[in-house]
Formats: sequence, structure tokens, C-alpha cells
Amino acid sequence: MKEKLIRFMQGRYGIDTLNNHALFLVIALFIVNIFFNNRIIMWLGYLIWLLVIYRMFSRQTYKRYQENEKYLKRIKPIQQWFNLQKKRLSDRSHKYYRCPSCKQMVRLPKGKGKIIVTCPSCHQKFEKRT
Ligand SMILES: [Zn+2]
Repeated sequence: MKEKLIRFMQGRYGIDTLNNHALFLVIALFIVNIFFNNRIIMWLGYLIWLLVIYRMFSRQTYKRYQENEKYLKRIKPIQQWFNLQKKRLSDRSHKYYRCPSCKQMVRLPKGKGKIIVTCPSCHQKFEKRT
């Protein structure tokens, strides 16, 4: 049985971030739909589910890979924002800012007053209150 499954999955795409997030969305839609009992939400959930299954068993792995890469590029700013919030919460003795010219993240010690910051990446100087 296990060998049959392995043989069946050979050359097929499988799970990636896009599929994982889509499945999460499907579950969220079905949970929301417990309260609304809406047909459109239900069919949307099934449609996304079908797409996930299609992508999982697809043999065009390169195309699926490219879709996932596109998706990862799109959600990168959101992931960066979440990472920044995590850092801010766990590190209370520093402040985090982005360089206004190159967007490089800089970490500054708190409680030093107004300071001139030199970006470690592009060497642009900017003023920040810590
Ligand atoms: Zn910079």
C-alpha cells in the first residue's frame, strides 16, 4: 500500500507554501461558514480545495514551483512585517527602524535620545529618536 502511494506520488508536485496557505484559507472559510451558512462561501471553499488537490497531484512541477515563487514574492512584505512585530515584542531594549533610502533594518538601543544613524548598508545618515 505504501509503495503504491509512493509510486503514485512520484513526479508529482506535492505540498508547498501556497498549498499550505490555501488549505488554511479553506479551513477558515468553512469555519466562518458555520455561522453564515452561505452557499457562495461553501463553493469558494470547495473550489480552492480542488485547486490545492490539482496542484498537489500535478506533474508540471516547474509550473507549480513558479506559481509558489510568485506567491512567496507577493507575501514577502507581509512576512517581513510579522517578523518585525515579533522582534519588537521580544526585544524591548532596542528599537527597529528602516533606512529611508534602502529599507535596510537597523536596530538601535532605546533611551539614547535623538541620534544620527548611519545606515550600515548604504551609509545614508538619518535622525531618529530612541
Ligand atoms: Zn540604507
